[in-house]
Amino acid sequence: MTTDDPGSGFGDRPRRMLRQLRDVMARSATQQDQLDSITRIVAADMAAEVCSIYVRRSDRTLELCATEGLNREAVHYTRLRVGEGLVGDIASSARPLALSDAQAHPKFAYRPETGEEIYQSLMGVPILRSERLVGVIVVQNRTRRHYGDEEIETLETFAMALAGLLTPGAQEGGGAADMEAEAPTRIAGTCLVPGLAIGRACLHRQTVADFPVLAEDPESEHERLETALADMHERLDRLVGTAPLEEAGAHAEVLETYRMFARDRGWLARMREAVSGGLTAEAAVRRVLNDTRARMGRISDAYLRERITDFEALADELMAALARERGLLPAAPELPDDAVLVARSLGPADLLAHDRDRLRAVVLEQGTATAHVAIVARALQIPVVGRAESVMSDVEPGDPLIVDGDNGQVFLRPQQEVREQFERSLEMRRAERARFAGNRDRPCVTRDGVGVSLMLNAGLLVDLAQLEMTGAQGVGLYRTEIAFMARRDMAGVAAQTELYRRIIEGAGARPITFRTLDAGGDKHLQGLTAGHEENPAMGWRSTRVLLDRPGVLRRQVRALLRASAGRELRLMLPMVVTGSELDQARRIIERECERARARGDGMPSRLRFGVMIEIPALMWQLDDILPGVDFAAVGSNDLFQFSFAADRSNSEVSRRYDTLAPAFLRMLHRIVKACERHSVPVSVCGEMAGRPLEALALLGLGYRTLSMAPDAIGPVKEVLMACSCADLADLMCGILETEAGHVRGILSAFARDHDIPV
Ligand code: PEP
Ligand code: MG
Repeated sequence: MTTDDPGSGFGDRPRRMLRQLRDVMARSATQQDQLDSITRIVAADMAAEVCSIYVRRSDRTLELCATEGLNREAVHYTRLRVGEGLVGDIASSARPLALSDAQAHPKFAYRPETGEEIYQSLMGVPILRSERLVGVIVVQNRTRRHYGDEEIETLETFAMALAGLLTPGAQEGGGAADMEAEAPTRIAGTCLVPGLAIGRACLHRQTVADFPVLAEDPESEHERLETALADMHERLDRLVGTAPLEEAGAHAEVLETYRMFARDRGWLARMREAVSGGLTAEAAVRRVLNDTRARMGRISDAYLRERITDFEALADELMAALARERGLLPAAPELPDDAVLVARSLGPADLLAHDRDRLRAVVLEQGTATAHVAIVARALQIPVVGRAESVMSDVEPGDPLIVDGDNGQVFLRPQQEVREQFERSLEMRRAERARFAGNRDRPCVTRDGVGVSLMLNAGLLVDLAQLEMTGAQGVGLYRTEIAFMARRDMAGVAAQTELYRRIIEGAGARPITFRTLDAGGDKHLQGLTAGHEENPAMGWRSTRVLLDRPGVLRRQVRALLRASAGRELRLMLPMVVTGSELDQARRIIERECERARARGDGMPSRLRFGVMIEIPALMWQLDDILPGVDFAAVGSNDLFQFSFAADRSNSEVSRRYDTLAPAFLRMLHRIVKACERHSVPVSVCGEMAGRPLEALALLGLGYRTLSMAPDAIGPVKEVLMACSCADLADLMCGILETEAGHVRGILSAFARDHDIPV
């Protein structure tokens, strides 16, 4: 991604405004006078009829503290909750907003006491101090006015300078006590990485706060920026190059991508240009970040949009380097041994830079499950709650916190009873983990002697460490596209060969089933799949893409053949819809084998060719396709979504139907029976295989190989070892024959009656 828009220069207007601001600060007797004068200056200078400053209070409201243009009686009276109305929206998103018709916006909240109904257009920006929201500054106009990027930047520059004035408790009507809320609070967010943790809050780089906005000496600001950039690049290079070997390997894909962002030419040029325009290095970093946020926020591709967090983390990194250079940033305080890192956003490098043993959890104001930091945290098994609105403003360093990653919530300064409850849950989990660890080296055999193979689903090198930790017998599904999603591009044959070699080495003697690229749908690969489709799950994805772009498949197969020299290569194709698709793919693979043999390349000792059964149409072609494959794997996630017409990534419908519905169980039964007829080994590798109750059902239907996420192995193994396969087979037979509607209930009762710990 290149942020190649050169951006507008830093004109005279903000310079003049900032000088006036300095004069006001020196002249005005009280803080209220200062705020009043500031609103007058900004309104006049930006040709706006209104300028208002809202200050954030400890009860998460925004209080109108000064205004030019709105009714004066509303000052210290009008309050909006964070998230309420347009001002509240600016506060909760911490992003600028510019609307030519503000009243038509669904978030517009009318406050009669302000008299604002006559103003059509509105532009506001957050006032952030140390990444914490302290207020919002807004201008309004009577007419429908279009505010340009330059005007937004001017107001942002102003807000940066204003941030220093709005120190906690500094405003009249405020007072220090007001800002120091001690009350317990529950902050709702979303689960990025599940898990539970109790610890103390450490605010990420909260000390980078005050910095001059206008450069006294632009030349020296250029030098400061270059030094900070070199500092950051060097730190990232060091982190990639000298991290302990297994760690470097584990996070290589993610860190490489991150390092690539740090060298984005457009981003670097824009910061240099802002310094040339008269800003200090810090102000330039901030301004370009705000600008990048606004522009990338408009990108429709979700994966690219989420890369904003990378730029945020890099800007943070630069701000820290600049503050260190000014001597403003004290040496980073050592993390307490139960640290919960709280940040607006975090880069993967920040996470790796901390001592893992001290880090219990992470809470972010932003972030998504596919953010790089979440990918790394998941690999390190650190729970993460994201989208915890205003958490940076609510939390004080050292505050006790409970992070409930499973349910995406955070308890701040929890009451004793809540804390005790969570401590009990944590204790139970520890005991559970100890039990699972005790089973690790035992074979998974049911009470009546039936062996079940438990395999791992993996997608990053780091996942392979879980083979040893869980005692899984191998990798039942290696999702090869994940590494390329983290990199954002397709690697060439040499890079892929190297990657697959490391994966194979990482698995030791255990088998791995590689799935050919399953890109598209929600897994967009830059330069390969279509960025936007009306119905991406059923669009141009997966094997369809590979057959239309056979070069991509050929390169992947070539790399896999080379990496597997002397070993068995298990290769399977996802999302196959017809027998002819399978034949076409097989021909391409065979041709690659012939080519490799002709070149005298080392060959795998044996090639096993498999198919994923995840499209309902394949259900009626099983007898045609199974004779041509060596193994099959049921992709129950997709098979279920297509059979029930329920988008798996849409939370409104994804849980609407039960995977234990008799209709679905009958499909699964039909598959296992067909595989038996053709002596084709079959596994299930969708999420259901990793849920204890579903695993019992699958065993009863006849499945003997299940592949799942690492943390599912322990619980599934425990229930399978406690059950009798024959009893389950009888139970499932009855369920398939009758119209039993409550299979989940029936299975739960069965487990209870037979002391199976589901
Ligand atoms: C599935 O569809 O069940 C599956 C295992 O593949 P994925 O989740 O990667 O689509
Ligand atoms: Mg699938």
